[in-house]
Amino acid sequence: MRAEIIAVGTELLLGQIVNTNAQYIAQGCAGIGLNVYYQTVVGDNRERLRQTFELAASRADFVIVTGGLGPTQDDLTKDALAELLGLSISIHQPSMDKIVSLFRARGTEMVESNARQANLIEGCEPLSNDNGLAVGVALKHEGTHYVLLPGPPKEMKPMFDRYAIPWISSVMGEEAAPLHSKMLKFAGIGESNLEHRLIDLIEGQQDPTIAPYAKEGEVSIRLTTRAVTAEEAQRKLAATEREVRSRVGDHIYADSDVPIERVIVLQLAEAGKTLALAESCTGGLVSEMITEVAGSSAAYKGGIVCYTNEIKRNLLGVPAELLEGTGAPGAVSAETAVLLAEQVMERIGSDYAISVTGVAGPAESEGKPVGLVYIGLAERGRGAEAEKLQLSGNRESIRLKAAKHALYRLWQ
Ligand code: ATP
Ligand code: MG
Repeated sequence: MRAEIIAVGTELLLGQIVNTNAQYIAQGCAGIGLNVYYQTVVGDNRERLRQTFELAASRADFVIVTGGLGPTQDDLTKDALAELLGLSISIHQPSMDKIVSLFRARGTEMVESNARQANLIEGCEPLSNDNGLAVGVALKHEGTHYVLLPGPPKEMKPMFDRYAIPWISSVMGEEAAPLHSKMLKFAGIGESNLEHRLIDLIEGQQDPTIAPYAKEGEVSIRLTTRAVTAEEAQRKLAATEREVRSRVGDHIYADSDVPIERVIVLQLAEAGKTLALAESCTGGLVSEMITEVAGSSAAYKGGIVCYTNEIKRNLLGVPAELLEGTGAPGAVSAETAVLLAEQVMERIGSDYAISVTGVAGPAESEGKPVGLVYIGLAERGRGAEAEKLQLSGNRESIRLKAAKHALYRLWQ
């Protein structure tokens, strides 16, 4: 079944307020498996409202409207819909009583327009307003279902969740199948390589769908399915997950939306191992990521931000001739990355160490291109090695990717 969401209000058209109601309603619809095909915004104008409702009714099973249920002359939603459908307006007595008693309690005089908030459309079901005066409307007319909700979010949300959603779900019956999804998170594989290895699944698979994402140095895929029960969803997602794992399983570090740093801290803490860091171009970003994880002190001892050559030399013992001699590998090199990792592991006394040295940009350095990064990994008793990366993006994105890669190295 299809839905259209209509937000009513000239303020929305003028950009004076943001249409957060549409977002909220759209998420609620997705939650019960109701497909939203259109979202419309229309001003407080009777004729345009009527046209908008007419168009929506021609292309949607559910027309969900927010705004314009208030007492003032520009609140026209109920009138415009009743007029379009040729239905009469009547008073909902319980809502009227509520309005009257509220004004009596306040000691102010009720003007006639306030009564408009108790209006109902012939043949509809009222939707209670637990946080305001305007009563909502749920109406079935000639195969189309209309839901009219107030504009103020604090009134709209509870009415939608408590009364509209159950009404819509009962109309949808078996079709009210919510979306379920599952995230798989990847380390040590780029988005395009991942997509390449799953392309036939991504393109051929309708349910569950497989969608790759790359954001902030993380690569993940989301599996999504529609199912009435959680068990059914579980079963469908598990089958697709098995297929994905059979191809790229060695790169999956988590089957929920957790960052790599959390997994690393847990793994190290469980194994009773500790970590130290030597960060140059990331300037402490890896350290920041790790210490954001609660309980990270069980695994992370500390690190050195060795940003200048002077600090690489004086605090971590990287020889000047390696850093600066003519024809020397330089600060951004595999040799330096290895030494930094080894030295920080020794000085801090950890079981593992990672180092990051690279060119974050915007300008090249040592004649090396922006985005060139070396990650060193040292393990007690096993020595150290470096990995070379050529990352893309601006300074911020290169630093972020370098930091995430450093953590991925440790996971492998
Ligand atoms: P009222 O009784 O307050 O007049 P109403 O149902 O007539 O309520 P509107 O007059 O359309 O609703 O809007 C009232 C207020 O609700 C707006 O000033 C705005 O603050 C908020 N609002 C309306 N529509 C939206 C929307 N789509 N998204 C977010 N906020 C909204
Ligand atoms: Mg209003």
